[in-house]
Amino acid sequence: MTQTDAPLPQGSIVGILGGGQLGRMLALAASRLGLKSHIYCPDPDSPAFDVTPLKTVADYEDPAALAAFAAEVDVITYEFENVPARTAEFLADHKPLRPGANALAVAQDRLAEKAFLSINRLPVAHFAAITDLDRLEAEIEEIGTPAVLKTTRLGYDGKGQRIVDNMEDAALAWELLTPKPLVLEQFIPFEREISVIVARNAAGQVAAYDPAENVHRDHILHTSTVPAAITGKTAAKALEIATAIVEALNYVGVMGVEFFVRDNGKLLVNEIAPRVHNSGHWTEAVCITDQFEQHIRAVANWPLGDPARMANVVMENLIGDEIAAIPGQLDPTTRPHAYGKAESRAGRKMGHINRITVKKRKK
Ligand code: AMP
Repeated sequence: MTQTDAPLPQGSIVGILGGGQLGRMLALAASRLGLKSHIYCPDPDSPAFDVTPLKTVADYEDPAALAAFAAEVDVITYEFENVPARTAEFLADHKPLRPGANALAVAQDRLAEKAFLSINRLPVAHFAAITDLDRLEAEIEEIGTPAVLKTTRLGYDGKGQRIVDNMEDAALAWELLTPKPLVLEQFIPFEREISVIVARNAAGQVAAYDPAENVHRDHILHTSTVPAAITGKTAAKALEIATAIVEALNYVGVMGVEFFVRDNGKLLVNEIAPRVHNSGHWTEAVCITDQFEQHIRAVANWPLGDPARMANVVMENLIGDEIAAIPGQLDPTTRPHAYGKAESRAGRKMGHINRITVKKRKK
């Protein structure tokens, strides 16, 4: 065993880029395993700072702060996919960066992501790179309408995309969406949206969770329901695709893979997120090992835990003032999680509730 593939011993420090709720939940999981975490985030009010004393408040592109952070930690991970490429490379030169910079490169750019999926023969909606209006006109002819025009970078929660029904719409969308180039995608009249949380460690061990069925409200995840209303065959295929993705990337850590499910049960990958994922928050209430512990185990070179699910569950996000549901709507079968954010704003993820239906034992 080399130094880099030895399991991190107790007391080691996991460096986490990003101080939001995902960083906070990762730090809590690390602490339970006897590891420490050091959060790096430019925002001094980050909710993750509440749960660990080790912190750096600095810009993600501040080389001196990054070097000092890297010197103090044993491994580096992140809670968001928009870590600047130069920052990822810089940190990876100092300490193991898990997941690696290749996963960030693929997930940060929709074109790179779709190209990676197609090359690996994984199912994805027809798409084309759009560099100018002539190209857009030609691809609208080719792909047909409706279609979805999206930015390649920095799109999230439905931002940076527009549905287009004709060339006139498309020309307007081209004007409005930045930065260029854009990507044009076939519109998928899906029946439902699901996601799979999958983990892989450096030894190649893979653990995938049951698919969750996701419902969005105002472009923000509202609920994740498990089990999803899909056949066993579709569920098995989703796990197979998610596994193929982490293997093709030689990935280390937890990944969220979002799919469209068509009415014939066929799957298309919509997006991959190289991190713990909002649609995996249900795992903390009903799985032997939740996604946060799983991610820490993977990046610390520990054996993965069992992703088995012990009950049915609906995870509901608490957005803005909905945080009043804690403690307002608690009953004995709910598991609440508040992120400790001081200020509740419209559209801000403040917490979540897992509503659990324990499976009845047959007598
Ligand atoms: P995204 O930011 O790509 O995850 O898209 C946000 C949401 O927009 C998805 O969860 C879908 O509900 C919808 N959407 C995105 N792309 C498509 C597509 N090609 N066809 C139909 N709906 C889409």
